[in-house]
Amino acid sequence: MESRRSPIVIGAGPAGLTAALRLAQRGVTPRLLEATGHVGGLARTPRSGDWCIDPGGHRFFTKSEEVMDLWNALLPPDQWLSVPRSSAMLVDGEYVEYPLVGRDIVTKLGIGRGLRGLSSFALWRMLRSTSPGGQPANFEEWGVHEFGRYWYTTFFDGYVRKTWLADPAELASDWANQRIKPIDWAVRRTRRHPSEDVFRYPRRGPGQLWDAAGAALVDAGVTPTLNTRVVRLWEHGGTWYVELHGGEVIKGDAVFSSMPLQSLVKALPEAPRKVHVAASTLRHRGLITVAVALSDHHEIPFNWVYTPGGEFSCGRIQNYGRWSEDLHPAGWGGTFLGFEYFVRPDGDLMAADESSLSEIVEADIRALGLGASRIEQVMVLRSQCAYPVYDPVRERSVGRIRDYLRRRYPTLHPMGRNGMHRYDNQDHAMMSAMQSVAKYFGEEVDPWQVNVGRDHHETGVLRR
Ligand SMILES: Cc1cc2nc3c(=O)[nH]c(=O)nc-3n(C[C@H](O)[C@H](O)[C@H](O)COP(=O)(O)OP(=O)(O)OC[C@H]3O[C@@H](n4cnc5c(N)ncnc54)[C@H](O)[C@@H]3O)c2cc1C
Repeated sequence: MESRRSPIVIGAGPAGLTAALRLAQRGVTPRLLEATGHVGGLARTPRSGDWCIDPGGHRFFTKSEEVMDLWNALLPPDQWLSVPRSSAMLVDGEYVEYPLVGRDIVTKLGIGRGLRGLSSFALWRMLRSTSPGGQPANFEEWGVHEFGRYWYTTFFDGYVRKTWLADPAELASDWANQRIKPIDWAVRRTRRHPSEDVFRYPRRGPGQLWDAAGAALVDAGVTPTLNTRVVRLWEHGGTWYVELHGGEVIKGDAVFSSMPLQSLVKALPEAPRKVHVAASTLRHRGLITVAVALSDHHEIPFNWVYTPGGEFSCGRIQNYGRWSEDLHPAGWGGTFLGFEYFVRPDGDLMAADESSLSEIVEADIRALGLGASRIEQVMVLRSQCAYPVYDPVRERSVGRIRDYLRRRYPTLHPMGRNGMHRYDNQDHAMMSAMQSVAKYFGEEVDPWQVNVGRDHHETGVLRR
């Protein structure tokens, strides 16, 4: 019976690999199609000799036992690190711990600025309590109510403009209170539960796990087909026809898709105009990660440093040395950093040549105060669809597409971060893949419910 099944999985990122593994575990051999030359998607780990870069600083964290079991099955315990989590905002040359701590923000930037922040915070809190309204209309309103205008402007406004490439007043606020923790005012801070203070991390970066998933699939008889982009698909009489970039058409009984939702709709010729219109409103931000190895050792005691100020072009800096020493050559003693630039997927910067990027990065290295260090190694990584944009039309557009696909194509399973156009971490992408496979086998589950309720959210981290 199972041998008559012939599902097609689009994309070999965390969602596609998980779906293929689950299918293989249930005795079904899927076709796994990947547009690029590698597996791992956004969570891959590009390498150059002994240098490995993580495109976005991938913490491994999950509340799902199923996900945890799969991670443990793919990599043995000695390949996992427990990494202490620490991040800061770099404001006017001072590292201010993030999530924000009351004592820190009042004193770190000078007592004058501390008092201004405090009085603005008190004023907005008072206004909030005297006019309790509904949901704030946009991100700026949410931030001003939460932190007061002064601290909102100091810590968040510039950062959000850089990362979302938009005016915070034009961004929806619904993701903010899931992602941004309020100020911690405790006089004596109680340590968070130890499991919240550390995260897991594969020694050689997130792609180590996804390469292991690819190898496990090959062992199970499923070899991912790389450099194979899906361009069109249609269904007729219960059979799916999937057209590849070169013109070949393959057939299957179901499709699991982690390609971006709007590309999926574009590839479905039969979708009605209103669904195409909804898909055309979905937007992404791109990301350029420039990894730079500096010859001198500089002590930066954080995994990530957020850089909201105008003196930096980057929005965030990863400090790879604090993630894993195996991301650089053994015994090397310099500073290995990843500068993150948030860009329009089709903008000039995404297409910029290495020398223009070098100028930008070198200016950021100087702004960080490390301009005197010699650059030993530079690696550039571009991710076009790094972030699904949360603007006010996203929810309605995604809902319209979801309802149409559900009704018209019960054997088409969108899954994962871009596949569902939402802010999934790896574990969410994996869970929607697992649930899509369960649905394919007739279980009553709804993968669209993954990462919707509060239970799915990790509280307190400024994640993007
Ligand atoms: C900067 C940054 C930081 C992050 N930090 C974390 C973190 O700390 N922790 C965490 O858990 N997660 C993090 N994530 C999220 C994580 O990367 C994603 O959740 C995960 O990669 C999503 O997996 P996916 O398979 O749904 O999508 P993707 O990883 O995007 O994979 C989709 C795959 O489909 C392929 N594809 C697309 N179109 C086609 C097509 N037409 N035909 C064939 N193949 C196609 C793509 O090439 C890609 O390989 C971060 C992401 C970013 C960008």
